[in-house]
Amino acid sequence: MDKLPRLKDIRPFVSTRNACKLCSPLGASIALKGIEGCVPVIHGSQGCATYIRRYMISHYKEPVDIASSNFSEETTIFGGAENLKVALGNVIGQYKPKAVGVATTCLSETIGEDVALMLKHIKSLTNEEEWPDLFTVSTPSYQGTHMDGFHATILQMVKTYAKDNTPNDKVNVLPNLVSPADIRHLKEIFADCGLDATILPDYSDTLDNGAWDKYYRVPKGGTSIKDIKLSGGAKATFEMGEFTKVSVGKNNSGNLSAAAWLEKEHGVTNHQTILPIGVKATDTLFENIGKVSGYEMPDKYESQRARLLDSYADGHKYVFGKKAIVYGEEDLVLGICAFLDEIGVEVILAASGANNNLTERLKHYCPSNAETIKVMSDSDFEQINEQAHELNPDFIVGNSKGYYIARDLKIPIVRVGFPIHDRLGGQRIKHIGYEGTQELFDRIVNSLIEYKQDNSPIGYKYI
Ligand code: SF4
Repeated sequence: MDKLPRLKDIRPFVSTRNACKLCSPLGASIALKGIEGCVPVIHGSQGCATYIRRYMISHYKEPVDIASSNFSEETTIFGGAENLKVALGNVIGQYKPKAVGVATTCLSETIGEDVALMLKHIKSLTNEEEWPDLFTVSTPSYQGTHMDGFHATILQMVKTYAKDNTPNDKVNVLPNLVSPADIRHLKEIFADCGLDATILPDYSDTLDNGAWDKYYRVPKGGTSIKDIKLSGGAKATFEMGEFTKVSVGKNNSGNLSAAAWLEKEHGVTNHQTILPIGVKATDTLFENIGKVSGYEMPDKYESQRARLLDSYADGHKYVFGKKAIVYGEEDLVLGICAFLDEIGVEVILAASGANNNLTERLKHYCPSNAETIKVMSDSDFEQINEQAHELNPDFIVGNSKGYYIARDLKIPIVRVGFPIHDRLGGQRIKHIGYEGTQELFDRIVNSLIEYKQDNSPIGYKYI
């Protein structure tokens, strides 16, 4: 018998060791928790939903219910339509949600489930009026990261609900994956500037509640579907982030972000900025707000800006020339690096688990570091660890998953972003605006002072 041709290896196999990214339906679930009365359903195996719940509960310290259609071996072969029907029946019966968002998983995508068609069919079995809003988002994790899942969900929401462009007085604010505290701060900024903002998604209450006097199966808060329906006729969109285009999942070949889609389909002007971290980036946000509102920056924010600049002068001697490694979601990395460049920190490595090309944008926003900054995309924590040992940073900035690198190098870690599993209050860390930057700047300076103090052979009480 003739020998069968051998398959050629395209590249040597390298395993990912602790990827610097999370899974797509996890990002979708965070976004879905920001929709009023919405319960996320993960269409796939139980383990995916458990992992997502565990990560979200550990960071947000809130009850997080994520339902699952609970695939078995049989479902994997014959399809999950029946399981989805049962899951929806249970969720609707127990939670009485206003909306249910179904995010797919690697498994349901691989077997080619058409969830949109399934939802249509399931709804047609009984009186459609009895159903809450049902929608689906395609989130194959092998194609993207949690950020792709997050942005795909927002795009899907506007595609589903923004059907017309009858003008209204609202503005759309797409803040990216920021903390609940950041979202509250943005609401305050837009309200103070006289703009009626629809924040999409708004998980500022749903993922950061007060103590309850009774248990709510579906936490209060979130963006209302009514407001999402108005997004096509809004006066403007304020999109934060430069890596918001969606190219993964079904029907996303347009490579558009939600804001770009609203501009293309309904003519809503998109005022895009990077995450407003630092004076320059926050100035740009306020300039854009001023173009739409016609207002000058309110005195309150002039004062915050002035205090921030004053603290830059006070803290300059501690941060200037220090070397930092930044890792995490690509837009957070870009925003933090631009801010560090502004305060005189040398960013020696910027790493993200996404496949985006950060280099060009980093060079643009970090002019002082443009020639020396090393950029890693599609990276894992072991690669970052290896680089960190070579590059000898003074501190690192990122989520809790990089803690072991800081511990190993005996240097400070300044925790930002998601997930923060090893500290209380990850959901209350403010990163954006003059106020958020102030908190971040103080934390960076104090981490460096504390490190110096702890490692001083003589000890001192004054700085
Ligand atoms: S199987 Fe895919 S969807 Fe499920 S947890 Fe893993 S990466 Fe996420």
